[in-house]
Amino acid sequence: MSALYGTYARSELAFEQGEGVRLFTADGTSYLDFSSGIAVNALGHGDPHVVTTLKAAADKVWHTSNIFQIPEQERLAQRLVDATFADKVFFTNSGAEALECAIKTARRYFWDKGEKDRVEIIGFAGSFHGRTIATLAAAGNPAYTEGFGPMPGYKHLTPGDLALVEAAIDNKTAAILIEPVQGEGGVTAFSDAYLQGLRRIADQHGILLIFDEVQCGYGRTGRFFAHEWAGIAPDIMAVAKAIGNGFPMGACLATEEVARCMVPGTHGSTYGGNPLACAIGNAVLDRVLEPGFFQHVEAMGQVLAYELQQLIQKYPHLVTEVRGKGLIAGIKVTPPVRELVQRLRDHKLLTVAAGDNVLRLLPPLIVSEDDVREAVGIVARVLAEWDAEAGQAGQ
Ligand SMILES: *Cc1c(COP(=O)(O)O)cnc(C)c1O
Repeated sequence: MSALYGTYARSELAFEQGEGVRLFTADGTSYLDFSSGIAVNALGHGDPHVVTTLKAAADKVWHTSNIFQIPEQERLAQRLVDATFADKVFFTNSGAEALECAIKTARRYFWDKGEKDRVEIIGFAGSFHGRTIATLAAAGNPAYTEGFGPMPGYKHLTPGDLALVEAAIDNKTAAILIEPVQGEGGVTAFSDAYLQGLRRIADQHGILLIFDEVQCGYGRTGRFFAHEWAGIAPDIMAVAKAIGNGFPMGACLATEEVARCMVPGTHGSTYGGNPLACAIGNAVLDRVLEPGFFQHVEAMGQVLAYELQQLIQKYPHLVTEVRGKGLIAGIKVTPPVRELVQRLRDHKLLTVAAGDNVLRLLPPLIVSEDDVREAVGIVARVLAEWDAEAGQAGQ
């Protein structure tokens, strides 16, 4: 019996080594990693620049608290500001905490303006924002909120229809919160027009637009952040996952206008942005901002999408839709997706299940064309097996 909380249905696999897009068990068995620790290991495993930085940082101060100046934190914040819409950054240890900061900032912004009733957030079906009470409430997924008590202060709409958003806004609404590409919910990439529409509606009503780019950001779609494709910007954005490439880290980014209300005492974090985390964060950012990095992701995303389309041609009864953007990709399948993930694992390919019976592919962003073809080849083989078995069963 494990001493751990039973909150995960874990596979029996454990990995000991990692190199690039591959993970190795203790006996040396190699797995092709198209899960990246759920969109975390953007640079794959063992990136030399990040490893060297971590080793050097280990010999310096790890932690001091935000009572003191943290030069690595200042530097990372300035670089994120220079590369995005934002003017201000708050560092956290996780995605959920980045969203907590985003939600608090939105509420406090209106409180500061004297609009004390503007506390509600409009969220969307299929969202995932984390596992804290506020982030569960924001996403409103009954599978995750059940049994955890009342969670007031949020409305939930079907995404994709701007008229629904328009109709839902009232004098209590503070913000609209959405993932430009929904990850856990089923790898749904919203159109540029929809995201532009949300921006327009937020502006018209004087409310805030918050993007959750914890999963789809940091280069995964082929731009630094997914919303850049739509040519618009949020007021507040949550970032995490790939920002530390596996070191627990997150960030809430905001405009100066919005972040101004977050004065001393309004928010804090013991670990958030500590010297060790920010040294690693800066090293990750060095790599992500290298010339050609995003172009590579875009190109590999196109190869992946093309290869996945071929699966629909070959197995139209098993694969019904290709979803996603860049290297956050999914296929909607007819076999139970969790069983498919298990079988792919048996064939040494690591993938992740998503909602709506979607198989999610999240390779490291450094993936090569050969890796993409190898992975989709394994998916094709497993689907062929499935097909053969179903054929036999039907006879
Ligand atoms: C993973 C995820 C989160 C939560 O991040 P944690 O680090 O697990 O708290 C929030 N939003 C999205 C879109 C995510 O994918």
